[in-house]
Amino acid sequence: MGADAGQAGEVALEPLAGGGTGGLATAIALRKAGIDPLVLEQAPAFTAIGAGLGLYANAMKALTYLGADAYWRETAARIDVSEQRGLGDDQLITASSLAPRADSAPARRARSSP
Ligand SMILES: Cc1cc2nc3c(=O)[nH]c(=O)nc-3n(C[C@H](O)[C@H](O)[C@H](O)COP(=O)(O)OP(=O)(O)OC[C@H]3O[C@@H](n4cnc5c(N)ncnc54)[C@H](O)[C@@H]3O)c2cc1C
Repeated sequence: MGADAGQAGEVALEPLAGGGTGGLATAIALRKAGIDPLVLEQAPAFTAIGAGLGLYANAMKALTYLGADAYWRETAARIDVSEQRGLGDDQLITASSLAPRADSAPARRARSSP
């Protein structure tokens, strides 16, 4: 991708297809590098779909580097236990504790945790 300079006075914009996680992260990174991004998104609006979003440490580091960490630092809940359950009966299949690593995580504890 190259940002071609147009005629004198024109602003060269770097076009990006898609305003999802990847597109917006790339747009922020381009702006930090001094390149003006133009994000082209097909969806008329972003709407909540009712799903939570899990972020591993590498994603949190990348968002912090991009300066996009304020929201998750304010709203995120720490996961202490990971469980897999049956779709039909909700019976526990496996569980593993994330507590030893989570103790050093920056996010605050889940409100439902003791
Ligand atoms: C049910 C579900 C749960 C998930 N949970 C997690 C999670 O907890 N943690 C996690 O890290 N990841 C999770 N993921 C994965 C994560 O959502 C994707 O890895 C991530 O969204 C990919 O980002 P992206 O920008 O590449 O694509 P997308 O987020 O899909 O964004 C692509 C965007 O491009 C737009 N677009 C497509 N074609 C065009 C076009 N021709 N012109 C203009 N715009 C276009 C689309 O409308 C869309 O907005 C989950 C995914 C699913 C489906």
